[in-house]
Amino acid sequence: MIFRTPLEGVEHPEMEADVVIVGGGPAGMACALRLSQLIDAHNAAHPDSQLSKENIYVLEKAREIGQHCLSGAVLDPRSMDELLPDWRKEAPIESEVTGEAVYFLTSKRAFRSPITPPPMQDHGNYIISLQRFTKWLGAKVEEAGITVFNGFAGSELLLDGARVNGVRTDDKGVDKTNQRKSNFEPGYDLRAKITIMAEGTRGSLTKKLIEQMHLMSQEGSGEDPETYTPIVRNPMTYGIGVKELWELPAGRVPPGQVIYTMGWPLTSHEYGGSWIYGGRELSGGGGNTVSLGFVTGLDYPDPATDPQHVLQSFKQHPFVARLLEGGKMVRYGAKTMPNGGWWSMPPLAGDGWMIVGDSASFLNSQRLKGIHLAIKSGMLAAETALEAWLAGDSSARQLGRLQKKVNESWIHTELYPVRNFHQGFEQGFMTGMLNTALLLATGGHGLHNRYPAHPGHERMMQLWDIMGQPEDRTALRGPARGDGQLTFDKLTALYHSGTRHEEDQPAHLIVRDTDICSSRCAHEFGNPCQFFCPANVYEIEEKPEEPGKKRLRLNPSNCVHCKTCDIMDPYQIIDWVPPEGGGGPNYEGM
Ligand SMILES: Cc1cc2nc3c(=O)[nH]c(=O)nc-3n(C[C@H](O)[C@H](O)[C@H](O)COP(=O)(O)OP(=O)(O)OC[C@H]3O[C@@H](n4cnc5c(N)ncnc54)[C@H](O)[C@@H]3O)c2cc1C
Repeated sequence: MIFRTPLEGVEHPEMEADVVIVGGGPAGMACALRLSQLIDAHNAAHPDSQLSKENIYVLEKAREIGQHCLSGAVLDPRSMDELLPDWRKEAPIESEVTGEAVYFLTSKRAFRSPITPPPMQDHGNYIISLQRFTKWLGAKVEEAGITVFNGFAGSELLLDGARVNGVRTDDKGVDKTNQRKSNFEPGYDLRAKITIMAEGTRGSLTKKLIEQMHLMSQEGSGEDPETYTPIVRNPMTYGIGVKELWELPAGRVPPGQVIYTMGWPLTSHEYGGSWIYGGRELSGGGGNTVSLGFVTGLDYPDPATDPQHVLQSFKQHPFVARLLEGGKMVRYGAKTMPNGGWWSMPPLAGDGWMIVGDSASFLNSQRLKGIHLAIKSGMLAAETALEAWLAGDSSARQLGRLQKKVNESWIHTELYPVRNFHQGFEQGFMTGMLNTALLLATGGHGLHNRYPAHPGHERMMQLWDIMGQPEDRTALRGPARGDGQLTFDKLTALYHSGTRHEEDQPAHLIVRDTDICSSRCAHEFGNPCQFFCPANVYEIEEKPEEPGKKRLRLNPSNCVHCKTCDIMDPYQIIDWVPPEGGGGPNYEGM
């Protein structure tokens, strides 16, 4: 068993906070900036009732703002236009979108779609590096007078019954055996009136909150008149995007060019596709950066599916290999994204807490876009927080207004019509495409108003059953070898993610029962952790004391914080918890 037990007898210094935002990605930073703008406006209008920003904090586990942010990314500017109307003048934009193309790939050929389907049209959007963009947004937050604690993870929720009273930050200086080192520093207890979860995909504190308060298991239909929350919920579902940043000779994929592909190397039973975005010109001229990656739905049937291998196979397709010829891979990374959309949203608020961004499933998977929704949801949470602050009431009823604001905003207009999109693909690619056409014709209703969804790990087939399937999945299965130029094995790729952790710390991947790994999982699923992890964290090795018997070996310091293991482990015995703050990938330019 690989467990992490809390240290005993540690006094945690307390700090009072008005608002704590956990996670400094687009959602958290937009929330902080909007809150600051609202406070400024309030203070200007009410000279005798001034609000202070002194006790508003953003916690970010990365050493530097943006380092853990990985995205495509094409930005829909809608919410930035509302947050900072002049943002285009100073934000780091790689390029405005200048051209689009959509292809369907077979193993050898690429068929260009004569039209770009409306959800994939990107004119008016911008290609950005989310790391650079978030770093810039974070600087705005700090300039506005809000404190951002970099290198501090929210590690525990401070609960009082059903009320969230704040967050405990991570203890620093704890060794592998869970003992204090000489540089030990206890985490802080940030006692907050309002705690806002903006942890991104599969947030670790958000997961605990959802589990402890049974937030996804409420049944019924319609909307709760007290809290404005939709009561019917699907389980959350996810995809993993494996990304590489390349430097290419000029003219291959010029700045502003957007390409999407569907089909190969996936078969008709996996959900996913690729993106190729032309980024900024390289200094010194002669070429530009290109973001390319492949999203594989984390609801695939074959347990040997390896999403990093999927990307390597994709690059070998003649259409893609031609584009990449003579180029160089410079960065690598991976991250999951929520695909479930509207019906998978948890309640957005309760006593003392709200959830925003990817943590609450604010992502339009049909468009592969969530940044603008994360920003808007953060802004609406800021408005809700200020109203609660002024009313001196952070109860579920008061903070539940966030749901009403979401329902009345363009988030609803965008997400509600695609509420059944992803679920349509559970029966395969063709059914999914037919369903998409039906949804377009019926305003998203399709055959029923709500299509159910199933957690991805439940859809994984056992070894015995998958052997009977006719599809050729060699391009997806098992680890990729890599030639070191066009394709890369996981360890070589990982080197380009800049991942660094303090080695002497307790494992942050908590495997609750490692006996399952060597017994049931080996026989039933062939230990899929060694395939779905894009960073070689999980290895299955021979037990030295019992030749012929296998055991799990963990390499936590390889972890790129994508959260795939937490989502896809078939027995749900892996918990991803934040490592010591500051550790993780460094997605410079990604
Ligand atoms: C491969 C890929 C491609 C994508 N492409 C696009 C695209 O082209 N366009 C688009 O609009 N969207 C795209 N998306 C989606 C988009 O990136 C997300 O919707 C968006 O980043 C969500 O913002 P967020 O702030 O909710 O989460 P994140 O961007 O994930 O930020 C969360 C932050 O919280 C921090 N954090 C997490 N837990 C803790 C904790 N416990 N304590 C302290 N800090 C914590 C993280 O380090 C991170 O900095 C893509 C996503 C992926 C994975």
